Amino acid sequence: MPRNKPQNIGNQETDCSRRETILVVDDDLLHLHSLRTLMEQAGLTVITTDHGETALEHLNSGNIGLLLLDLNMPRISGSKIMDHIITHKIDTSIIVVSGETSFEAAEDALRHGAYDYIRKPYSIDNLLNSVDNALKKRQLEFDNKLMQKKLQESEKLHRYIVNKSPDIVYMLDTEGRFTFVNKRVETLLGYSKNELIGQHYSKLIYADDNQKARFTFNERRTGKRSSVNIELRLVCKDNHNIKHFDTRLLPIEISAVGIYNNQSGAQDNHKFIGTYGIARDVTDRKIAEETIRFQAYHDLLTSLPNRSLLKDRLNQAISQARRNDHKVAVMFLDLDRFKVVNDTLGHMIGDELLRSVGQRLQSCLRDCDTLARIGGDEFTILLPEVHDHSSATEVAKKIIRNLKKPFIVEGHECFISTSIGIAHYPDDGSNMETLIKNADMAMYSIKGEGKDGYHFYDKNMQEEFSAHMNLENDMRRALNNDQFVLYFQPQIDINQKKIVAFEALIRWQHPEKGFILPSEFISLAEETGIIQPIGSWVISQCIQQLAEWKKRGIYNTRIAVNLSACQLKQDNLIETIQTQLAAHGLDGSQLEIEITENVIMKDIENGIRVLNQLHNMGIKIAIDDFGTGYSSLLYLKKLPIDTLKIDKSFIRDIHLDEDLSIIKAIITMAEGLGIDVISEGVETMAQLQQLVHLNCFNVQGFLFSRPLPAAEAIKLFDNSSWYDEVIN
Ligand code: C2E
Ligand code: CA
Ligand code: CA
Repeated sequence: MPRNKPQNIGNQETDCSRRETILVVDDDLLHLHSLRTLMEQAGLTVITTDHGETALEHLNSGNIGLLLLDLNMPRISGSKIMDHIITHKIDTSIIVVSGETSFEAAEDALRHGAYDYIRKPYSIDNLLNSVDNALKKRQLEFDNKLMQKKLQESEKLHRYIVNKSPDIVYMLDTEGRFTFVNKRVETLLGYSKNELIGQHYSKLIYADDNQKARFTFNERRTGKRSSVNIELRLVCKDNHNIKHFDTRLLPIEISAVGIYNNQSGAQDNHKFIGTYGIARDVTDRKIAEETIRFQAYHDLLTSLPNRSLLKDRLNQAISQARRNDHKVAVMFLDLDRFKVVNDTLGHMIGDELLRSVGQRLQSCLRDCDTLARIGGDEFTILLPEVHDHSSATEVAKKIIRNLKKPFIVEGHECFISTSIGIAHYPDDGSNMETLIKNADMAMYSIKGEGKDGYHFYDKNMQEEFSAHMNLENDMRRALNNDQFVLYFQPQIDINQKKIVAFEALIRWQHPEKGFILPSEFISLAEETGIIQPIGSWVISQCIQQLAEWKKRGIYNTRIAVNLSACQLKQDNLIETIQTQLAAHGLDGSQLEIEITENVIMKDIENGIRVLNQLHNMGIKIAIDDFGTGYSSLLYLKKLPIDTLKIDKSFIRDIHLDEDLSIIKAIITMAEGLGIDVISEGVETMAQLQQLVHLNCFNVQGFLFSRPLPAAEAIKLFDNSSWYDEVIN
């Protein structure tokens, strides 16, 4: 037996190979034995048998890789065994090792699928060679099958990936017709694959994007120069329901490359076979972009344009007006009583009210006008094409009229009005900043005049405005610099023929401007909140005055103090008055609070509460300027009122029937309610006589005295002959 045979016969020892069992079948036991030894020496696993039946059993087990088969055997011949292998599709290789020398026998064996035919007596080299080759061939076939299986699996995988891709994956032929499209197209566009195969891509393109699509869908380039991330819109199949905001169009981002049938990727026309591309649904990104763009240019509360968008539109309108020689109107709106609503009803209702106001303002405008919200309760309107003041006047009037109707916000009835300032391009400014600033200034001037109206900008406003600003700054310093003084005007009881009280009236001794009356600074102080410290100063000043008079033995008089709206809201109002009165051992009845109807009406509940507290301290309550405000008789019963002060405008016009009857009505009503009446602004004897005739015996006015510094006022109190001097 040769000893030098390769041990790795049939590659049986290599890593990727399998170890196969060799079955040797021969009825010649000697042969059988020597073949076994030979195979074993070659390192192979061998089973041997001289029985056909046993051979079949082994074969049926499916574990035999190679069969060394003798042909001539009793009972079951080698040919029969081969037939069995064929009919039972047994996977094994066969080498016939036979003494049969005829050509037919060999041919028959090969036809039966034998790999080789070796004649006995065989050369060992030949036999081992043949075995080696048979096993290698098997291994090769096995490897091939394995490879094929892997390929099939990987193709399945790719198909899966392509179909499950979140993107549309497609291929086009050279004419631009679909040759492949993945399943994604069904969910995204509503077309089935079959509806699209063979169709031209343009069937899917939104008309406006055709030009752009032509370059991408006809892509012939490969590599870096090919189309990447080109945005297009695809048209969905009719009624296909997708999530996009424009329900018929799907925004996509497409990347495409040319395909060539040679591997080089050369862009040779002859070898171009089509285009491969991927289309990604970018709806979500588009929505996000759209939202961001919207937020950048709109006010989120009202969804109205914001300052940035207004700026764009205004600049556009200005350049157009310059070209076409027309005007642009800019209207600046500020809601008048918005802060009150916000403070009393809360921000939620305030926000809702702003939204409703926005809608109502919008309804007063044309489509080409722009309404923007540029701050808390500030709106701006742009009328892009006007010829004179009449357009803005019309819009302003319409807005004022429309806002008069109450707003119902979550069951609350809210009344709001607005002050409107108007500036025109080019008369009042050549750029956006100036126009808005000047419209704002015009708005400010209407606020100064009592709100709820409109003003056109004019050049004098600038001065007024700066004066206003200066005044505000000066006023903040005035308190610390002791520039305020109180004057006192006597109130006289005609029956008793004597002074019963003094009204304290504030004056400002301005270092440069001289003596300033309250009509010039009180409303500004109220607007800016400076009225709070000023008001507190007035009260403590009056109490000190009373204390001083008390030291001089004057007890039987009182001082009337004017109170502004926001003072009623002041937290420490009651306590400070109480402590100060107590500190000087004064009685509450020596103090009187004058308050106007409008002040109470602004916040009736709080008004009732505070006035009751004051009243409980013995402090008298007078309604100032009575007859000019809301004149709601209902609240008179709810409030602890001691006195009605008939407004001086009625006294001035007492000779007119209308005013006379109003005065009469007030006096009669007060008598009915058990309330005192005082008339202010009494300047003449005639007026006094009329009032006495009407049973009004309390008066105040220039007839008796102007407001005077404390020292002079108290002299009148001491002077017993003064009253008679006035009357005679
Ligand atoms: P008011 O409370 O109605 O005060 C009466 C105003 O009428 C005073 O003007 C007074 O000088 C003026 N007056 C008095 N007698 C006559 C008259 O016979 N004829 C005419 N035509 N006028 C007369 P004044 O002092 O300029 O004050 C104006 C307003 O300023 C006051 O109106 C009051 O509302 C406010 N005010 C004055 N002092 C204070 C204060 O300390 N606090 C607050 N919050 N407001 C004040
Ligand atoms: Ca008063
Ligand atoms: Ca008054």
